[in-house]
Amino acid sequence: MTPNQNPSIRAPRGTQLSCKGWVQEAALRMLMNNLDPEVAERPGDLVVYGGKGKAARDWPSFHTIVRELQRLESDETLLIQSGKPVGVFRTHERAPRVLLSNSVLVPKWATWDHFHELERQGLMMYGQMTAGSWIYIGTQGILQGTYETFAAAARQSGRASLKGTLTLTAGLGGMGGAQPLAVTMNEGVVIAVEVDPARIDKRLQTRYCDVRCDALDEALKLAEEAVKEGRPLSIGLLGNAAEVYRAFVQRGITPDFVTDQTSAHDPLSGYIPAGCTLEEALKLRTDDPAMYVERAKESMAGQVQAMLDLQRRGAVVFDYGNNIRQVALDQGVGDAFQIPGFVPAYIRPLFCEGKGPFRWAALSGDPDDIRKTDELVLRLFPDNAELHRWIRLAGERVAFQGLPARICWLGYGEREKLGLAINAMVRSGELKAPIVIGRDHLDCGSVASPNRETEAMRDGSDAVADWAVLNALINTAAGASWVSLHHGGGVGMGYSLHAGMVVVADGTEAAAERLRCVLTTDPGMGIIRHADAGYPEAVDVAQRKGVRIPMLPI
Ligand code: NAD
Repeated sequence: MTPNQNPSIRAPRGTQLSCKGWVQEAALRMLMNNLDPEVAERPGDLVVYGGKGKAARDWPSFHTIVRELQRLESDETLLIQSGKPVGVFRTHERAPRVLLSNSVLVPKWATWDHFHELERQGLMMYGQMTAGSWIYIGTQGILQGTYETFAAAARQSGRASLKGTLTLTAGLGGMGGAQPLAVTMNEGVVIAVEVDPARIDKRLQTRYCDVRCDALDEALKLAEEAVKEGRPLSIGLLGNAAEVYRAFVQRGITPDFVTDQTSAHDPLSGYIPAGCTLEEALKLRTDDPAMYVERAKESMAGQVQAMLDLQRRGAVVFDYGNNIRQVALDQGVGDAFQIPGFVPAYIRPLFCEGKGPFRWAALSGDPDDIRKTDELVLRLFPDNAELHRWIRLAGERVAFQGLPARICWLGYGEREKLGLAINAMVRSGELKAPIVIGRDHLDCGSVASPNRETEAMRDGSDAVADWAVLNALINTAAGASWVSLHHGGGVGMGYSLHAGMVVVADGTEAAAERLRCVLTTDPGMGIIRHADAGYPEAVDVAQRKGVRIPMLPI
């Protein structure tokens, strides 16, 4: 890979356009924002988050995308194939300005080995979820989901919050870095094991984590005191998860909650094997990739075994969406799937209402625009106490990375209402510039991922991926600003297909029409997908809100 050629890309702020319209300008700024050093994990390699989830295939592709967006007319559409701009066609104004397909392989070839071969030849890149689709907003993007997941875990274990409990987790990367703050927002204590000191320091700088410890004894002492006092505390512990989890078992220490968010989905580039330093691991990765993968998989199996041991001793253990159970199962840990996935355990009821990680970013770059949209959310949904608590906490505790942005789980009907209200504020000049509205691919109606979002579906349709494809198609027809279809996000090659959408609120009537359609079709896909699978909550929402489903199960 070409070394860092653009160390400090930063999206332009303000109202001066370098493109021929706000939609193209929004795509340009969000691509650049994904690579802002405040936002991306390894911007020099174009890596945004999630192992090696990239924003563009290589630097020539990045520069060409920028140039093409700047010359793109408002009735043209740019096509991106795995991070490379491959064509521009005349379409029409209501069509998306950009269509992206990332890392999609024919199923029989959908393996990491085949992907790596294509990547080596410069024919593909890994787009993760929001990296290759230009709507990553930093660690905040997963924060509310992580916060809600821990809140649900506490509730299901009969507690009002995580107060007085210890959580053990690992991985302080782009997404995993949300865990310490999510736990302390729920009043708990967390030890988050991370092998790379720079990642811990980044979470300290952005106030996601309170303290760093370089030794387990020190971390345990701090954790014990805080648990006893019922005081929230997050500790980033420098170490290897496989080794530290085993040490908990050996010392007979059973945390209340255990999970993991290392990049286990990618055994070659995402997970550091036990028994070697970070530097040794990086060397082994290039010198002997096959040996590296073998050692990483063995370590993951050991880590999952330790998680199962802690589960047997009474800890609440859940998988956090990185496919580590599958690796352990393949390595012979037969009961790996005794650990429940977080979606069936905590999130699916929200998906049934069309709820998911809705987000928006202020193209002005002015934090005041986000403060005003926070107030708007409070005004629009006065009876939603949980939402109010979230917006208040986020306003106080979240440090923005890159363009100011907000995440907020909203459902069917709510997204359209908020989107239109934001558009009206742009039109009236209350907000200084347009707002980009999008979401994670980890959403209610946009993903097929049998070890994560669609694990244990009621009707057994876990692996049916038509839904993700239909999501991309209907959002394209509805007039989203850019639409993406990806493979392998979250859980790695062969394990998922998912779609993304972004729609720009630039204050015009045309934008209002796009928002009205897209913010209905998109969460609507979640309702029909879950109603079709027989979830009564989704059927109920469909009936109450008038979502037309021709063969609704009775
Ligand atoms: P990332 O690659 O930015 O970070 C992973 C971190 O794990 C790195 O900091 C790395 O140093 C650390 N790590 C790797 N091996 C380790 C080990 N053995 N011990 C300790 N630390 C180790 O990835 P990310 O964006 O934080 O995502 C993490 C995982 O979570 C990915 O598999 C991703 O697909 C998945 N994910 C989950 C959700 C969710 O909602 N649960 C959402 C997005 C992504």
